[in-house]
Amino acid sequence: MTVRPALEEDLPGIEALYTAVVEDMHGAPYDAYWEMGVHPTREGLRDRCRAGNLFVAEGDSHRLVGAFVLDGEQDAGYEQVPWHVAASPDKVQVIHLLAVAPDARGLGVGRRLVEAAAHIARERGARSVRLDAIASNAPAVALYRSCGFADLGVFSLDYAEDFSCDARLMELDLAPARRLLDPASLASCGLCPRRCGANRAAGERGACGAASTLRLARAALHMWEEPPISGDAGSGTIFFSGCPLKCVYCQNHEISTGNFGIEVPPERLVEIMLELQDQGALNINLVTATHYAHLLPQALADARRRGLSIPVVYNTSGYERVEAIRELEGLVDIWLTDFKYASSRLGSELSHVPDYPQVAAAALAEMASQVERAGGQASRPDGTWTRGIIVRHLVLPGHADDSCRVLDQIWDAAGDVPVSVMNQYTPNAAMRAAGGQLSRAVTNQEYEQVLDHADDLGFTTMFWQEGGAVDESFTPPFDTTGVLVRADAGSGTLRAEKEDAS
Ligand code: SF4
Repeated sequence: MTVRPALEEDLPGIEALYTAVVEDMHGAPYDAYWEMGVHPTREGLRDRCRAGNLFVAEGDSHRLVGAFVLDGEQDAGYEQVPWHVAASPDKVQVIHLLAVAPDARGLGVGRRLVEAAAHIARERGARSVRLDAIASNAPAVALYRSCGFADLGVFSLDYAEDFSCDARLMELDLAPARRLLDPASLASCGLCPRRCGANRAAGERGACGAASTLRLARAALHMWEEPPISGDAGSGTIFFSGCPLKCVYCQNHEISTGNFGIEVPPERLVEIMLELQDQGALNINLVTATHYAHLLPQALADARRRGLSIPVVYNTSGYERVEAIRELEGLVDIWLTDFKYASSRLGSELSHVPDYPQVAAAALAEMASQVERAGGQASRPDGTWTRGIIVRHLVLPGHADDSCRVLDQIWDAAGDVPVSVMNQYTPNAAMRAAGGQLSRAVTNQEYEQVLDHADDLGFTTMFWQEGGAVDESFTPPFDTTGVLVRADAGSGTLRAEKEDAS
């Protein structure tokens, strides 16, 4: 779905959309009391289109699925509202006539429209976005609240000479959110959804195993990501030590739980990115950087300034705070995110985080929105990507049904995004010793069940794996390759350490 300024040739379609919305709302509990020819009018829509203030959401086959107006016109009565943001009138943008086609409800169109409006308002230099919703229109009020709008209360507004109505006045503060990725936030770390509050600045380790110093396990070309990421040249992977999740079956347990790696200064991260580019990497692939995300804005800015020109891939477990993902907007080109479980029970038993499904869905929705806002997926002539999103799911033995529910949740959160369904589960020593379902590989039957379900849902871009389910080539050796400055490699001043951070 794309949100874009309306064109004059869209006007008949926009009028048809509003007509359908008005007819659908008439008499419903969420009736906004709009009437075609009165509010909105054909002339009003045309004028707002010509002024660049009318926007549409375009779905599959260029179908218009939503629209809104964004301008600086504060309706009569707005002056009585005790707005939270003290902004001069020229720093206020107002959303009017936000509508979703009746047959496109439940697809996240409303949220996309609101997010797009906030984005446009920011670009216009506004400090706040304001709106009014008929007080009885509970779905609209809930949507705005969930998008971060403050609810200023109910006021009587005169919508026309002979029509007053109770309306809920709402406002979105566009000031940059608290800087979660500010390095100062390490004094009480809440970088990941665990929000364990460790004072990493003072050397305390969080549940992820990380303290204040950056620790890396490997930096090398990697050939086994999805084809648009690895291509023929390879992806420039940088493996960060530690992990907020510590899944019991982790195939990278040496670094996730063992915290294997070398401490390096942040400047070294910049050098590594440039070295990987020099080696021909198609992109910089930051593998599980969640707990070091506070270093990324500066490191990426420095790397870009020093000539980094390839895309940045953020390769994550999916267990991310939406606020962190928002602060990475514009820095990350390709989101390579897991969606591991649909079941809270599995999240709890296997990764110690019962809120995994809800957290991953919210983070995924934000990632997908960012790609849309940036203009959608983009590729080089050879088919490798420069912008996009891939949602990965590792099928676990004995849990194919949950995998199908995961696909349902991906569809609900982000629609028809590219998905990568993997069968490479390899039982680690602990899982082999424990016995049970997770001590074996995924069967062909289980894998087929999940792939069939992805097909049934209608995902149009899907990656899958062929051959044996267990293949150790997917797991590179964690030997600190590429982490040290070559001249220092044998000096003994920097050592690879394996430590138990649990
Ligand atoms: S990143 Fe680590 S220290 Fe910070 S909240 Fe998450 S687990 Fe805790």
